[in-house]
Amino acid sequence: MQAASDLTARLLRDNWLKVTDQVAEACLAAGRQPHNVRVVGVSKYVGPELAWQLAQAGCSLFGENRPQSLWDKVAYFASQPPLATPIQWHLIGHLQRNKIKRTLPLISMLHSLDSLRLAQAISQEATLLERILPVLLEVNVTQDASKTGMTVSQLEELLDHHEHLPGIKICGLMAMSSLAVDAQTAQREFEQVRELRDQLQGSYGQGLALNELSMGMSGDFRAAIAAGATLVRIGSNLWQSL
Ligand SMILES: *Cc1c(COP(=O)(O)O)cnc(C)c1O
Repeated sequence: MQAASDLTARLLRDNWLKVTDQVAEACLAAGRQPHNVRVVGVSKYVGPELAWQLAQAGCSLFGENRPQSLWDKVAYFASQPPLATPIQWHLIGHLQRNKIKRTLPLISMLHSLDSLRLAQAISQEATLLERILPVLLEVNVTQDASKTGMTVSQLEELLDHHEHLPGIKICGLMAMSSLAVDAQTAQREFEQVRELRDQLQGSYGQGLALNELSMGMSGDFRAAIAAGATLVRIGSNLWQSL
């Protein structure tokens, strides 16, 4: 058993180093500074024990797409000895309104704000907790009807209300590329997201700093980084060969 878990620890360390190296290389290839792109380690494929091993390998920013799995992992991490670098959790999937209360105290960012109603409910709860939650607006720029995220007009409606949402801080946009497209198409979609961000920054300007772009996953992070991603959400590549 000991030998098996040593092997797992080594694999996870190798995967983590490989992913961070590949992200740094993609930054350099795009003429960007590696410290401007953070890797969100997406732990949805594994249980708390393996996620904890990845934390020991050096990952300090985790993303989960389901609130319940995030709660479970946060609880498990809290039962372990503290690490040199405190762990941060980002929710990257849909947050149901009845799960806001329990999720809010655990996360440092929500990537997937997808409606004005949800924004209002989060803002209200955050205000009760005397917090301001950093959030990203999830946008759907693909023609893919199955994809989640807001249309541009829903996004603008939300931004029109942002002064009435004191419990959230809108920090940027989150997007996914269409499934199974080539790298060039993915990059074009990511560039569309960046252009949308630039345009919204221009029209809503003061009081908003849309600095973050959460885009890129295991299969398309290079294209996303070339297009300006500041947060890449990497899952599969971290857990391969386990
Ligand atoms: C699962 C997931 C990811 C990670 O995808 P991989 O292709 O496994 O890297 C990123 N973002 C979201 C929203 C996810 O649900």
